[in-house]
Amino acid sequence: MDSKDQLHILQSAPGCIPFHERVEHSLNKPLSADKIEILQINIGRRCNLTCRHCHVEAGPSRTEMMSRETLSVCLELARMPCISTVDITGGSPEMNHHLKWFIGEVGKLGKRLIVRSNLVILLEAEYSGFIDIFAENRVEIVTSLPDYHEDRTDRQRGAGVFTRIIQAMRLLNKKGYGQEGSGLVIDIVHNPAGAYLPGAQNSLGVEYKQNLLNIQEVLFNTLFCITNVPVGRYLEYLMKSGNFADYMADLCGAYNPLAAENVMCKKTISVGWDGTLYDCDFNQMLNLPVNHGAPADITDFDLQKLVDRKIVTGNHCYGCTAGAGSSCQGSTVN
Ligand code: SF4
Ligand code: SF4
Repeated sequence: MDSKDQLHILQSAPGCIPFHERVEHSLNKPLSADKIEILQINIGRRCNLTCRHCHVEAGPSRTEMMSRETLSVCLELARMPCISTVDITGGSPEMNHHLKWFIGEVGKLGKRLIVRSNLVILLEAEYSGFIDIFAENRVEIVTSLPDYHEDRTDRQRGAGVFTRIIQAMRLLNKKGYGQEGSGLVIDIVHNPAGAYLPGAQNSLGVEYKQNLLNIQEVLFNTLFCITNVPVGRYLEYLMKSGNFADYMADLCGAYNPLAAENVMCKKTISVGWDGTLYDCDFNQMLNLPVNHGAPADITDFDLQKLVDRKIVTGNHCYGCTAGAGSSCQGSTVN
């Protein structure tokens, strides 16, 4: 489904007040950026997996990859004092041949550096060296494990994926990841396996820790609960399974103004593989670049205009504002 079709479907969600109206009514103003402290970079859409919930619609046949030239501009942006965090995502970021170099350069800046890895790729000989590269550069790893039950994770991410994630976690634990006092952080993302909202992050985090330690003997730091945003393959799943209308009604019905005040786009700028600037990774996949007067190409980066920008929104944004809120760092409201 192309981005236009997706936007059309989202706009026609039955019973949903258009998101921009809802947010303007509850916040008394349009959704706008506050600052830019997180530089999120989607360095390519190729992936070794084809997960059912993937909003990127990533997979082995995708060819979009960020060039060294564009990564060099990202590196200059990462040097800006306002940037505290560089968050690298994909696809599978490891499949971009420039990642090793980029991590080394960003690592020298002493900023928080996150790589969103599916971990499965670290078991492949060609990519296993990233375990050392991540540890040497104090990279925080964020990985998706939709459930601590093997069958539920495999249903969403593919047969055998759960076992391979656990294998990779054991290797990372041996390196120090997840071990107290090591300073090496590995966080897990939980997202529901079906068309419903995630449970409470704190209690689910305890459940995950107990189960993964007692049964699988693996350690991690923090669990992030993320709501499935109806974009990409997840939107297709909702349509095919006949769950779209109910799911959108759930998201809209659970709209939380506090979560709207804390959405991640208020402090993030997201860079696409070709250097286009977006408010977030979901807007990337819907082909909605930054707008309202802010420059949308990395080579025209204008910090002040981007800090002052209004956010480009749509009904998919209800995924970030339902219940306890949802962001790349999990829930946004206690
Ligand atoms: S969810 Fe992550 S691991 Fe799965 S296909 Fe998408 S990018 Fe790849
Ligand atoms: S989907 Fe993107 S633009 Fe919309 S609220 Fe969430 S982070 Fe912001």
